[in-house]
Order: sequence, then structure tokens, then C-alpha cells
Amino acid sequence: DKYLSGLKKSKKSFGDRIHSLSDHFRGVDDELLEEIMVILLESDVGIHTAQKIVDLFSERSKEIKNYDSMEDYFIAILKDFYNEDPSDIIHYNTEGPTVFLMVGVNGSGKTTTAAKLMQMYKDVEFNVAVAAADTFRAGAVDQIEEWANRIGVPCIKGKPNQDPSSVLVDACRYAKTNNIDILICDTAGRLQNKSNLMKELSKMNRVVAREIEGAPQEVWLVLDATTGQNGISQAKIFMEAVNVTGIILTKMDGTAKGGVVLAIRDQLHLPVRFLGLGEKPEDLCPFELDNYLMGITK
Ligand code: GDP
Repeated sequence: DKYLSGLKKSKKSFGDRIHSLSDHFRGVDDELLEEIMVILLESDVGIHTAQKIVDLFSERSKEIKNYDSMEDYFIAILKDFYNEDPSDIIHYNTEGPTVFLMVGVNGSGKTTTAAKLMQMYKDVEFNVAVAAADTFRAGAVDQIEEWANRIGVPCIKGKPNQDPSSVLVDACRYAKTNNIDILICDTAGRLQNKSNLMKELSKMNRVVAREIEGAPQEVWLVLDATTGQNGISQAKIFMEAVNVTGIILTKMDGTAKGGVVLAIRDQLHLPVRFLGLGEKPEDLCPFELDNYLMGITK
């Protein structure tokens, strides 16, 4: 239900239009394929990915008759296209704290998402802590701390302009001595200077690995869904700098461009781990392919 209400805008631009095609469906012809192409592009799937989906739609079109509706056929095609890997699940540390590093540009929703993750893991009775290592953006540390206080989790913070890596070292040590299960690390996201960003991120990665074996268990790149294809180019820069293991797509509730999930899968080969479907701490949903496809289509 959160999926359904959160993806309403995408459903309107995507599912409703697929549905209207079936009303005057006279077989798969160029006109239909062109319509589908336009719908995909307007959902921000991007030209390369859209072309692949249209090709698949066309190649397998004999199967349409096996489905109750055009939407159902399309969902089946997209599901095959996404080609989910069931073994690709979130990694947890069974020997000590699990460290999640969150990266992404300012404004992507990184801080809000950190709060949502605190809430989510606290709700299932994990011991959660947060590291406020975004020591560059004015206010970022206060913002995280305020969320942490509200949710009731400890916040390990740095002073303004303190080296973010040293905040992470403090946080890892705190986590080890205080029986923390999940340590969520909010990092700075400055893309202006690519070589700085790379140095910073690889240093953070390195110091965390030195403190806790196997850490960071996950590196999540937070992307704003409303930026569509721009988000994909941003992602490629972060992926050069650090071993990103998954994507968190925020503001999905505020966009009709829900197709960006398909582009991420096709172009970045990374799993989408969570969707942000609102501004409140409880508005984070683990990504589920079937729910997502139903949400944008039906
Ligand atoms: P940061 O600079 O990356 O840390 O971004 P913030 O977490 O401060 O978020 C920027 C803005 O986006 C804030 O106004 C958030 O409330 C909003 N935001 C974040 N995630 C979502 C989401 O999933 N849905 C909506 N509608 N707004 C969001």
C-alpha cells in the first residue's frame, strides 16, 4: 500500500498510458512500439535501456495472448528485463557491528535516508548508532543529530571541518565497545572536485575496514529519483571512487519518472536496495521488484 500510494505519479504517467494502448490494440506494429518507446522515455528509462525493452517487447509479442491484459504482458517483460538476482542480498556482519556507508551528493536525501534507516533497524530491535561524518555541509551534523535524538539512537559526530575519516574511526570504536549491531555512516557528498571526492571516499573505506573486519558491509549510493538520467551519470562518478554495493532511490513519491529503476539496473548493474517514498522516517521501503512493477503499472 505504501508502494501503491508512493508510486501514484509514476503509475499515472506509465501504467495508465500502457493501459490506454490496450484499448486500441490491433497487434504489435511500429506504431505501438513507438508509443511504448515514448512512454518509456518519459518515465526516464533513457534511450539505450528503452530500446532494449522495446526490442524485448517486440520479440516476445506472440506471448501477449497468454496474458489478461497489455499491462500484465508488460510487467512480465520488465520483470525478465530486470533479471533479479535472488542471491544478491544485503550483507550483515555476524561477528560484530555491520557498517553501512552512505554516499551521494548534497540534496539527494542522504540525511533523511539515514534517519529512515535508523528508524527501520531500530524498529526490528537492532542496536543502532549513526556517525555524522558529513563535516563539510553546514548543518548536516546538527540535522543528523536531531534525527538521532528524536529516534533515540546514539550519534557520533565530528567537529566542523574535522576529517570525516577520523569521525568514522571514533564511530567504529564506539560501535565495537557498545555492542552496536548497525552503524549507519552519513558522509559528505561533494562532487565539485572529483579527485578529492575519490581520495576522501577511499580513505573512509580504508579506515572503516581497518577498525572492523569486512567493513563497510555495504556502500549505498543515495540518488534522487527526480534527477532521472543525471543521477545515472552521478552514480558512475561515485562508482569510480568507491565500491558501491547498492542504490537507494529517494523521492520516488515526487516523480513520474519511476522508470529510472530500470535504467539503474541496466546501466549500473547494481541492485536497488530501498525506495524513499516520502519525507517521514517510516517512508522507506525495501525494494521489491514485483511491488515496484505493480506500483508503476496497475
Ligand atoms: P542531503 O543533503 O542529501 O542530506 O538531503 P536531505 O536528507 O536533507 O533531503 C533533501 C530534501 O529532500 C529534504 O527536504 C527531504 O525532506 C527531502 N526528501 C528526502 N527523501 C525524500 C523522499 O523519499 N520523498 C520526498 N518527498 N522527499 C524526500
